[in-house]
Amino acid sequence: MILDGKKISEEILSDLKEKINKLNLTLAVIQIGDNQSSNVYINQKKKLCNKLNIDFNHQKFPLDISEKEVLDLIDSLNKDKTTGILLQLPIPNQINAEKLQNRINYKKDVDGLNDVNKCNLINNKPGIVPCTAKGIITLLNKYDIEIAGKNVVVVGRSNLVGKPISNLLLKKDATVTVCHSKTKDLAKFTLEADILIAATGIKHLITSSMIRKDAVIIDVGISKIDGKLYGDVDFENVKNKSSYITPVPGGVGPMTIASLAENLYEAYILQKEE
Ligand code: NDP
Repeated sequence: MILDGKKISEEILSDLKEKINKLNLTLAVIQIGDNQSSNVYINQKKKLCNKLNIDFNHQKFPLDISEKEVLDLIDSLNKDKTTGILLQLPIPNQINAEKLQNRINYKKDVDGLNDVNKCNLINNKPGIVPCTAKGIITLLNKYDIEIAGKNVVVVGRSNLVGKPISNLLLKKDATVTVCHSKTKDLAKFTLEADILIAATGIKHLITSSMIRKDAVIIDVGISKIDGKLYGDVDFENVKNKSSYITPVPGGVGPMTIASLAENLYEAYILQKEE
C-alpha cells in the first residue's frame, strides 16, 4: 500500500488554514548563495505561505556575506513580529551554521535545529521538532502503523533527519538501530527492520533483497539525476514485497512541508504564551 504523503499533507494544511488564516504569521527564510536545490525548496515554502496566507520574507545574501551580517539580521528578526525563522542549508564554509541556528530564538526556530529544541527532543520535553522527522511520525500515525515495540532501522544519522527521527521513534517505544556510511553489512541490519527509514541521498541504495517481507518502507532520500527524482529505495522492485511504502516524490516531501506549517503555528502559540 502506498503511503500517500501528498493526500495527508493536503488534509493537514486544509485543517491548519482555518486556524492560521487571520493570524498574520510571517516566515523568514535566510538563504546564502544561489544553490539550485535550495531555490526549489524555498519556492515550495513560498507556495505554502501563499496557500495559508502567511507573509513570506525571503532574505537572500551573496556567497561572500560575513557571518556577522547574518547574525545581525537574525537578531533583528528575533525582535520583530516574525513568527518563524529558518536557515536554508547548505551555506558556505566561512559561516558556521550551528552558530546561526543557535542565534535564532528557540521559539521561532521552525526547523527545530537550535540546541534548545534538540535538547528538548532528546530529553522527551516539549519543543519544536525538525519537520521531516515530525512528518514521518504523522504519516505513520495517519495510517495506524504501530511503532511501539517494532524494530526500526534508520539509515542515515544527520542532524536534519536521521538523529531527530531516531529520537522520536525511541520516544514512541520503538527499538531503533541507526546505520550510516561506516556500517558494515548494511543488509544485515535492514533485513531485521519492521520499519525501515532510508535517509542517505543515494539513489536506490535499498534493494528488494535488503528488506523483510511486509516491512514498512519510508524513503526520505531525494536524488536528482538527469532531471529525474529518485529515492534511496528501489521502489519498483520493493513495493510488492513491502506492506506500506512511500513514493518519491509524493511521500515524505509533502509531509515535511505540512510539518513546517504546523511548526509555524506552534511557534506562534509559544510566543503568545510569553
Ligand atoms: P546528509 O548528507 O546530511 O546525511 C546522509 C546520511 O547518509 C549520513 O549519515 C551518511 O553517513 C549516510 N550514508 C551515506 N552513504 C551511506 C551508505 N552507503 N550507507 C549507509 N548510510 C550512508 O543528508 P540529509 O540527512 O540531510 O538528507 C538525506 C536525504 O534526504 C537527501 O537525499 C536529502 O535530499 C533528503 N531529504 C529529503 C527531505 C524530504 O522532505 N523528503 C528533507 C530532508 C532531506 P555518515 O554520517 O557516516 O556520513
